[in-house]
Amino acid sequence: MDDHECFMGIALDEAGKALRSGEVPVGAVLVSDEGTVLATAHNCPIASCDPTAHAEIAVLRRASRVVGNYRLPGSTLYVTLEPCVMCLGAMIQARIRVLVFGASDPKGGAAGGVVDLTRIQAFNHYMEVIGGVRAAECADLLTGFFRTRRRKEEITGRGTEAAVTGSTRNRLVL
Ligand SMILES: [Zn+2]
Repeated sequence: MDDHECFMGIALDEAGKALRSGEVPVGAVLVSDEGTVLATAHNCPIASCDPTAHAEIAVLRRASRVVGNYRLPGSTLYVTLEPCVMCLGAMIQARIRVLVFGASDPKGGAAGGVVDLTRIQAFNHYMEVIGGVRAAECADLLTGFFRTRRRKEEITGRGTEAAVTGSTRNRLVL
């Protein structure tokens, strides 16, 4: 198993925590240019009533506090699902050097799934992107989560439409 797969394993553990909390299972890890884990985080917008509480935003905030700098140049962000527009924007602000993601998100991804913000040369920051790392495991967590939730909704006869975000609903098709 190479370094990318190892660090994605930590992100998968974080996604598992989100799953056990009833959140869409997405996890992230921020690794310094020396290869040190600076922070880990998972998705928690439902519990925190915060549409910005994606795993990537949380891991950027934690890592920035750890190093005492809002810029994290040279660092690599690992996340189990291709980042959305908001998270990709935050990564550009933080000057993340490499983005490594697991499953692609054809309904919400901003690294090639719907748009590719990493390839816009007019931006003043270029990010290397590696997708598809342990993609099957990352995607299985998501499909399992939504399958279980659909089953629960069928049993109770009511949906959770009001409780989920547009982005979450988009991911129902994964
Ligand atoms: Zn996001």
